[in-house]
Amino acid sequence: MNTLTPVHSMQAAIPPDFSSALPPELFRELVEKAPLAIAITDKNARILYVNPAFTRTTGYVASEVLGGNSSVLSYKVTPRSVYEGLWLNISNGLPWQGELVNRRKDGSRYLCELSITPILDDAGAVRYFLGIHRDVTELHELNERLQNQKRLIESIIDLAPVAVALLDENERVLLDNHEYKKLMGRFGKQEPAHAILAGLRAELSEPAWAQALARNEFVDQTLRFDRAGGQGPQWFSASGAWFMQSEPSADTFFAAAPKRYLLLVLTDVTALKRQQQEQWLNALRMMLAEGELVARLRETLAGAAYQLAGPLNLMAAAEKRVAQRIPAGDAALMAMSEARQHGEAALALLQGAMPSIQPEAWLPLNCNELLHDVLDLSTDRLLAEGVVVDWQPALRLPAVNGQAVALRGALNQLLANALDALHDSRRSLRELRLATRQEGDWVELEMIDSGPGIPEALRLKVFEPFFTTRPGGARAGMGLALAQEVVLRHGGGLEIATACPFGCRVVVRLPVAQGEAVHG
Ligand code: FAD
Repeated sequence: MNTLTPVHSMQAAIPPDFSSALPPELFRELVEKAPLAIAITDKNARILYVNPAFTRTTGYVASEVLGGNSSVLSYKVTPRSVYEGLWLNISNGLPWQGELVNRRKDGSRYLCELSITPILDDAGAVRYFLGIHRDVTELHELNERLQNQKRLIESIIDLAPVAVALLDENERVLLDNHEYKKLMGRFGKQEPAHAILAGLRAELSEPAWAQALARNEFVDQTLRFDRAGGQGPQWFSASGAWFMQSEPSADTFFAAAPKRYLLLVLTDVTALKRQQQEQWLNALRMMLAEGELVARLRETLAGAAYQLAGPLNLMAAAEKRVAQRIPAGDAALMAMSEARQHGEAALALLQGAMPSIQPEAWLPLNCNELLHDVLDLSTDRLLAEGVVVDWQPALRLPAVNGQAVALRGALNQLLANALDALHDSRRSLRELRLATRQEGDWVELEMIDSGPGIPEALRLKVFEPFFTTRPGGARAGMGLALAQEVVLRHGGGLEIATACPFGCRVVVRLPVAQGEAVHG
């Protein structure tokens, strides 16, 4: 008798003594009870046996299909090439596995995952086929729905007008959209998401960042990034949400090891900020003009009071002398006394009318912002005088603690000095280089102009009040003295550096705010 051999025989792995101990009818019973639809056919696919699960899957009872061809299940939409591949394999004694669209007895369709194993005789010829069917319609539908959803989400994200990136635990960008790709190169060589996260960590300070992590989100955090050249700063609004997800691997089926992902959403708010900046600059211009007006008024009133105080002192002295010689109650003495009192009342009125200087709050400030504001304020003059500006800010700077109006006023004064020097310069190239950097616990602001420079001998003298190098003393000579006073009040230093190949190099050094957040 010929023995039959399934192509994937387990025979070699099972010790002969155990398998021979099993009753032969056990195998038939196993097939009968198997939860998968099983059909055994001859080499022409004529059905010889089907199990009860086959009936449950296809709706055909054994008597309806025995002797017929397996093609009874064919719905005729499966491409011919699939059958050709199937037959090419199995008629050569090779197993085949694939998907077909089948039709049940009631006409309904299902997706069948079919696995066919040829059973060969001793001579290696195909005698039977063992077909195992599985209805995978639901799985397929689920998978399709999942894929459709994925495609939909991807296209929505890609079309979104904001930059979106998905980051893993190691902050590797796993997924990004069209808008995010457009940000490449905007942060030098740094990955945009990394630049934003580094900025956020610094901006939010440790407790605030820990709070964001605990809440699993941060919302609408605005960050400023300064760029070299004439590009101006750029602002981003960043929101993010962390979520946990398990790896879809067998290893994590019973022991889920969820990983943390971050969905980062960035909006470029530079245009909006520029608009706000423009409004802010106008307000600033008014503030500076008002400040100047107050200073002038104080100066005028002080001058008038001084002018009045002189004659009043003389009158008081004369009155005293006259009072020694003539009796009290004399009409002339009383008239003198009345005139002096009127004069003193007028002096008091003048002093009372002196506008007071508003005290200013101390706040964490960004020196890039201060210097850029001042530069913006002088745009018209820079353009009119053809000054080439080289703006080299540090991408990010630590905050300094200071009085914004006073510091801005001091920087404005230094810039005005540089522009005056460039105006006087005979050089055809009028260049102004502004840079900021962090040096240890200090923030440095550097201003270099290509003007005539300040001779070494006058390096300290220029800080004296009323000293001026300008011919004819056109200006009061108070600018540097006042600017230095403001910087010293901030615990910093202002110096005119000697090591400058051309023009004048002024460096303002301000201490980094202790324990303050670092911001852009
Ligand atoms: P057919 O004329 O039967 O054949 C289509 C292609 O197959 C032709 O290119 C033909 O050359 C080739 N072919 C057919 N018979 C042979 C053969 N004996 N030797 C070599 N090539 C051959 N089909 C289903 O649609 N659903 C099923 O669930 C299914 N289960 C099967 C289970 C087993 C165990 C086997 C062996 C086959 C099964 N088939 C099944 C395949 C089925 O027999 C038909 O080939 C298929 O249904 C196409 O039928 P048809 O009448 O459209 O074309």
